Amino acid sequence: MDIAKRYYFLAPLFAFVLSFTLHGCLDSSTGVDNNTNQFVSRAAPGASAKVFLEDSSFASLSVEIDYMPGHQPSQDALDSLKTFLQKRLHKSDITINTPTEVQSGGGGTYSANEIRSFEEKYRNNYTDSRNNTLHAYFLITDGKYQEQNNVLGIAYYNTSMAFFGSTIEEASSGLGAPPREKVEGTVFQHEFGHILGLVGNGTPTQSDHKTAGSAHCTADECLMKSTVETTDFFANLFDGSIPDLDPQCVTDLQANGGK
Ligand SMILES: [Zn+2]
Ligand SMILES: [Zn+2]
Repeated sequence: MDIAKRYYFLAPLFAFVLSFTLHGCLDSSTGVDNNTNQFVSRAAPGASAKVFLEDSSFASLSVEIDYMPGHQPSQDALDSLKTFLQKRLHKSDITINTPTEVQSGGGGTYSANEIRSFEEKYRNNYTDSRNNTLHAYFLITDGKYQEQNNVLGIAYYNTSMAFFGSTIEEASSGLGAPPREKVEGTVFQHEFGHILGLVGNGTPTQSDHKTAGSAHCTADECLMKSTVETTDFFANLFDGSIPDLDPQCVTDLQANGGK
């Protein structure tokens, strides 16, 4: 057998080993990589939904919040986030930490890669599976999302969310616009919904309510409707109060260990 032929025969094995390394070893109920025995904080959004919803691996949840100058989140929005999480997660203790100001990223627009590098620079708390506390991370930037200018927030890892302060400001200014704390509260809860595996992305759907092509809900009144994370919602559809999860989304969370 010549060299080329030998490699040809080995190729499927390499492909298998690679896919196993990337996807095969994250335990969805503990968040731990079975090869390294470490909690993984940089998996896909929703990959640790069960770990957030249940209390079997971590009884406490702690949310670290960093913001760029001029974009400190309102206390009202943080309080509404805490209430939302207490209502849906089996955690005996949920702490939303006092927000910390970090340096400006320069403003303008930010790509998903830039957001990831800000997290590397500024995030202080990561989950250690030997402890009882699960850590999540919020970064509120002073720019817009490069990929889509009307987006208010994104969930980009299994424990990480970013928000676009300039876009939030835009959605909450002008005649008849909703107050900033309502826009913040809505988008904080919506992005956390993605961390909880909604819709059909880490938390399996119990009924047919997932939109085609994205992890959103088809129910008109639901927090997880796709427009809720964009300025379009606040310009046209917002009625003054933060939308709730519709009953189908709640059922999904309950079936995956939530309440
Ligand atoms: Zn969304
Ligand atoms: Zn829904």
